[in-house]
Amino acid sequence: INRIMMMSTVDVCVIGAGLSGACIARNLASHNKSVLVLDARNRVGGRLLTAAAANADLGGADFGGAWIWPRSEPNMANLLQNLTIQTVPMHMDGISMAYIANGKRHVIPDGQAEMYAACGGGAIRVCGGASRVVSELLEPHSVRLGMRVTEIDYNDKKEVKIKCMTDKNNTNKNDHPTIIKCQAVVLAAPPKVLARTITFLPNLPKQKTESMIATPTWMQEYGKVAVSFPTNWWRQQRMSGISIDHVGAVATWWEACSGSEGDGNLPTLAGFVTEQGAAMLRKVICDDSSYLFEFIIESLKRVYGVDANAMGILESVASDNEVKAQGSSEQDGLIVTNGVITVSYKSWLEDDLTNAKDDTVVDFTCDYGDRDLQSSVEPLFFAGTETAAGAHGHMEGAVIAAERAAAEVAEYLSNCT
Ligand SMILES: Cc1cc2nc3c(=O)[nH]c(=O)nc-3n(C[C@H](O)[C@H](O)[C@H](O)COP(=O)(O)OP(=O)(O)OC[C@H]3O[C@@H](n4cnc5c(N)ncnc54)[C@H](O)[C@@H]3O)c2cc1C
Repeated sequence: INRIMMMSTVDVCVIGAGLSGACIARNLASHNKSVLVLDARNRVGGRLLTAAAANADLGGADFGGAWIWPRSEPNMANLLQNLTIQTVPMHMDGISMAYIANGKRHVIPDGQAEMYAACGGGAIRVCGGASRVVSELLEPHSVRLGMRVTEIDYNDKKEVKIKCMTDKNNTNKNDHPTIIKCQAVVLAAPPKVLARTITFLPNLPKQKTESMIATPTWMQEYGKVAVSFPTNWWRQQRMSGISIDHVGAVATWWEACSGSEGDGNLPTLAGFVTEQGAAMLRKVICDDSSYLFEFIIESLKRVYGVDANAMGILESVASDNEVKAQGSSEQDGLIVTNGVITVSYKSWLEDDLTNAKDDTVVDFTCDYGDRDLQSSVEPLFFAGTETAAGAHGHMEGAVIAAERAAAEVAEYLSNCT
């Protein structure tokens, strides 16, 4: 028997508990609308994921979005100020390193590290990690996690029916769908993921669907590695923590947490893993995921030109310590701990709620924020950073898209009554 669970009717259902969905929910709730936010994951934040959320022993480094440029991103700057969230400038002072190949290591000339590390130009980050922004925006009672939306029936414009499955991987045959009824829906998730995974009844207009499928999710091919230490050895050695590596799996490194004055509970370095780096790491961890630890520590030694002693590893990794691995890079991060040092890795490339796997060639000439991505198909409205006309891809874009969509929904609902 295909049992269907019905849930209470709400004014607006928001699909996606990322930054964009959270801003919409907050905005509409402040206009006295009943709002329910659904997310397929078992956590809020979407592409904002802080390592500390996965494991309290990690230093609050961000696996996803991290940097904000307040000079050119006024919406994010205001949001952080309104939520009284503490931020810290990216640490650029000190010696920065570049590893070229065959043992060739250079000191990056003064002032040029910003160019290579991509976190220059006055970037700041959130103390304790960017996912805090989303947790502070959302009222826990208005969020249902582990709810994967599979179908939206908007044949009756006055009562949209949203079908959700609680089993994210769709493997449990006994998984009964839940139906949620509402007057309006905001889809605040990557357009490609929505178009590939949700059945719309009736179909969305052809041109809109094509635009959604042709829009790669911002940063979908990246991952991040974070390493937390008991001491901030790079600052002690007058290094910035910034480095570039032409050889290893992590292309650039930076200081993700200083580990002091409320900035994360442990000093942490983090770095980008490109698609090529992800292929390298896949080989490293395929037999035993705990191999990640040694592979990453060896690359840090090579890039910074320091030995295990200088990193504080010798005293903290006792030889009889077992290396413990938990989690996975496709989910909320693979976490490998040896003594008091932890190496963690999150791959967005392998995360199907960010990167809907298909044959579309990633094409950065596509029109982020074009009219087809933004346009509503009443009573359905579209947000998410990819739909933003300005600052698309960034957190700033997620906020801009949310404000536009929330205004559209508010106007639509006022015309309905
Ligand atoms: C590695 C990396 C580095 C980045 N660096 C920066 C940076 O430094 N600065 C910056 O500004 N931005 C950065 N970004 C981008 C930033 O993270 C995003 O702009 C922002 O988080 C997007 O928010 P969103 O709400 O639009 O989408 P998401 O965060 O993707 O939220 C969408 C949510 O929808 C859910 N969902 C999808 N499909 C369904 C479904 N069918 N049913 C239910 N739920 C569903 C997903 O689970 C997800 O939680 C980075 C991103 C990555 C991956």
